[in-house]
Amino acid sequence: MTTEDTVFTKIIRREIPAHIVYEDTDTLAFLDINPNNPGHTLVIPKKPVRNIFDADDATLAALMHTIRKITPAIQDAVGADGVNINSNHGAAAGQEVFYLHFHIIPRFSTDGYKHTWGHTTYKEGEASLLAQKIAAQLA
Ligand code: 5GP
Repeated sequence: MTTEDTVFTKIIRREIPAHIVYEDTDTLAFLDINPNNPGHTLVIPKKPVRNIFDADDATLAALMHTIRKITPAIQDAVGADGVNINSNHGAAAGQEVFYLHFHIIPRFSTDGYKHTWGHTTYKEGEASLLAQKIAAQLA
């Protein structure tokens, strides 16, 4: 399936219904069909891209602008105590729709989600080596 064939493209084209909460020239935001919590919203670019690495800077800036604009309204609407903003990249990370999207997930102190993902620890010296390895890749 190409990026152009995903359900999100169909939502942009109004070929399938969605509860749209915000739209501008470059972005669209709508409620997730299977929310983690009420108000769980997806923000997508109208320009079809698979992930942030395929997106140009203007597209990323537009997405962040929309996220910052609409998140307080989402939080107010559902009375959330906090919010997770994330984007799954790759099947191993939980990505199911291969069209760039950011999740805005309202969080409640009572929602029972202890963490959004697991935690581990580094062995002695492991973090230092890894940080050096990543920095070397970027040098
Ligand atoms: P991913 O797992 O790719 O990060 O997230 C994809 C999200 O899209 C899921 O949370 C899923 O519930 C949502 N989703 C999938 N199909 C539809 C749809 O047809 N309409 C809406 N509104 N959300 C969808």
